[in-house]
Amino acid sequence: MARLAKAVGVPILGDTELFAMAINAIAPKDRPVIYGITGTNGKSTTTVLLTHLLRESGHDAHAGGNIGTACLDLPEPHPGMIYVLELSSYQLELTQSLHCNGAVLLNLSPDHLDRHGGFTGYESAKRRIFAHQERGDIAIISMDDTHSQSLCMNAMVQGPATVVPISAQGILSQGISCVAGKLYESSANETKMRVDLGNAPALQGQHNGQNAAAAYAAARHAGLSVDAIAAAMMTFPGLAHRMETVGSVQGVRFVNDSKATNADAVRQALGTFAHVFWIAGGQAKSGGLEDLQDQLGAVEEAFLIGEAQDAFARQLKGKVKARKCGTLENAVSQAFEAAKNAGLSDAVVLLSPACASFDQFVDFTARGDAFRALVGGLEARQKQKRPA
Ligand code: ADP
Repeated sequence: MARLAKAVGVPILGDTELFAMAINAIAPKDRPVIYGITGTNGKSTTTVLLTHLLRESGHDAHAGGNIGTACLDLPEPHPGMIYVLELSSYQLELTQSLHCNGAVLLNLSPDHLDRHGGFTGYESAKRRIFAHQERGDIAIISMDDTHSQSLCMNAMVQGPATVVPISAQGILSQGISCVAGKLYESSANETKMRVDLGNAPALQGQHNGQNAAAAYAAARHAGLSVDAIAAAMMTFPGLAHRMETVGSVQGVRFVNDSKATNADAVRQALGTFAHVFWIAGGQAKSGGLEDLQDQLGAVEEAFLIGEAQDAFARQLKGKVKARKCGTLENAVSQAFEAAKNAGLSDAVVLLSPACASFDQFVDFTARGDAFRALVGGLEARQKQKRPA
């Protein structure tokens, strides 16, 4: 049908476009403010984080789009209201007239390539988030991967929005950086440490530094004070299924990172822990584990599941110990036994699949919930064993 529509010149509009048309029909002075967030990874975390920061400062802010509430189901707009929209490449592809007062590009790595006809299509879908920006708007763009970096440089030259570069890899001379858990704001002649994320439990890890830097830049644009942002970051509860500790049994910690459906997301998780008993597999994305070959140092053993288990076992051969477990249930019990028996003080059983879930589960949420339930079962068995 989409092909037919294209052939006969009928426009294909997504719900984000209908939302944009409705907002654009409001007189400019009465329009709500819109922050749009895109990128390969970190969209949901950044969307929810920014909404949290805004709400803690008393703004009527609402998150929606690709997360939670679809944008057409969001509360009615009013002047002063703020929408924070998570925008996937699929949504951006079908959106022509959305004006983001603040637009965030967190990172760009190959994902969903089939739908967009290769990386260029994917990149140009993501680029649409900046399309209708004006003077006074803000474009927050990562400097940490080559594709985002070149987009950032172009935006700086072309305007009209003010560009704020962000990095989680090094301190920028201009922009917002997060290094070793400390968030810095740099302008022409000075760099100031603004937030110590060491005290923000849900914002640990380099990847969350990137998310926090983006949310910080957007929150500053919305007029929040540094102190208000720093305080609100400490109370951010985090999101389920993203490096979420779901339990601990006999000294083994269980971490649910079911949302890690691609290599880049898994890279963050593998880089965070010292001794990982890693559950991976499901429906593989193109390239499989190829991009993780340099990131396997912390992996004690891999426990493979789903359709991808044979291919993953081949890719890991000679690099790390790996066994095929078929189901998540088998993987959890085998990984737990191995972790327990390894006698390490900080062993982590990590579900970070590098795969979509659809071969065995309805979605990543069901996969993460199943993991949580299996860990709950281990905890209950452990309690029964303890003498009264
Ligand atoms: P998205 O909505 O873009 O899928 P999420 O916030 O749901 O992003 O996180 C998805 C996965 O990516 C999780 O495994 C999470 O730990 C990881 N992640 C979160 N932020 C980043 C980031 N900035 N860069 C890379 N990986 C990230």
